[in-house]
Amino acid sequence: MNKQQLPPYEPVKIDEKFWAIEQNGVRCYLFEGEDMALLVDAGFGGDLKAVCEKLTDKPIQLLITHADGDHMGAASQFGPYYMHPAEYSYYHIRNGRQPDAIPLWEGDKIDIGSFCFEIVLIPGHTPGSIALLEREKRFILTGDTVGKVPVYMFGTGRNLPAYLATIGRLTDLAPAFDTIWPAHGKRPLAPDILDSLRLLAAEILADKWPVPQPAAPHMPESVKVYSDHGVAFFLEK
Ligand SMILES: [Zn+2]
Repeated sequence: MNKQQLPPYEPVKIDEKFWAIEQNGVRCYLFEGEDMALLVDAGFGGDLKAVCEKLTDKPIQLLITHADGDHMGAASQFGPYYMHPAEYSYYHIRNGRQPDAIPLWEGDKIDIGSFCFEIVLIPGHTPGSIALLEREKRFILTGDTVGKVPVYMFGTGRNLPAYLATIGRLTDLAPAFDTIWPAHGKRPLAPDILDSLRLLAAEILADKWPVPQPAAPHMPESVKVYSDHGVAFFLEK
């Protein structure tokens, strides 16, 4: 995709100082704090910085939930970004260079005043995927790990046993949140989707595969949609 073909970023106000920025099926989030704003992910590319600067006049710090291309397209517009070091190798494999990253660890807190996010490592979709838990406002951002649209679980870096462990971890944390903000598909989601994802992942790992459905034409022939319990994965059997 060249820059002219990139779909526009479309901001949607969710709450005070809280926006979703939609771009043709992928979603960033922007939070305005007292002295800075936190941008979570950077879409396919295009002038995301100009879009954010219409929403906030605070300096913007970017955080990357994981290093897939649809979350990092405009990352270079923002200077070094927060990313978990467990994601650096995955970025390197995908891009042939090291990320321009500031390390962020499990349990780290990003307190911007109006919001305080706690970092949770959620491997499986990618090795260093992270979630952001806002305990006081009782919501969590989960990148691509939780969604009503099929979760990409085929190819380099994906790991279904790690994913299942992560869903267990998020389930343990679920008493701390009422709302899940995903990076793709319907938003927001209720925590009971975790039960569905856990069931589907556990069944497939026990070799109880649902009947496969065709995936998208741009995906490898061997990749199918495996769907049950109202959720789905893109997987290669
Ligand atoms: Zn994605």
